[in-house]
Amino acid sequence: MIKKINHIGIAVNSIEEAVKLYTDVLGLKLKGVEVVADQKVKTAIIPVGESKIELLESTDPDGVIAKYIERRGEGIHHLALEVSNLQDALDTLAKQGVALIDEKPRNGVEDTKIAFLHPKGTKLLIELVEPGE
Ligand code: ZN
Repeated sequence: MIKKINHIGIAVNSIEEAVKLYTDVLGLKLKGVEVVADQKVKTAIIPVGESKIELLESTDPDGVIAKYIERRGEGIHHLALEVSNLQDALDTLAKQGVALIDEKPRNGVEDTKIAFLHPKGTKLLIELVEPGE
């Protein structure tokens, strides 16, 4: 069901500041910055081999990323695992009693479909990603 680690999401106060470590220091390339308005978040995608680092900056003091940083500070926010069929994966997990935040896929960055599992069972926020066409 799981194909690979698609990306690791890191909550930061400022993408402009945080991206310097990955580009200037670690020598990776910034692929793009995208605002997801309904999630009140700005993302920066930095490919690392077959996976990516996703920097997340809140666009609103009430956004989930702002709230997360307020509680736990900047750092790893979620682990994103890639699946080939997201709805099938969600149905399979629900049948096994895994608590889901999203029972239906929603739209993510780069034309992906995404859904989050509930962290109460997994101890870590896990995102499932189905790549775009
Ligand atoms: Zn993500």
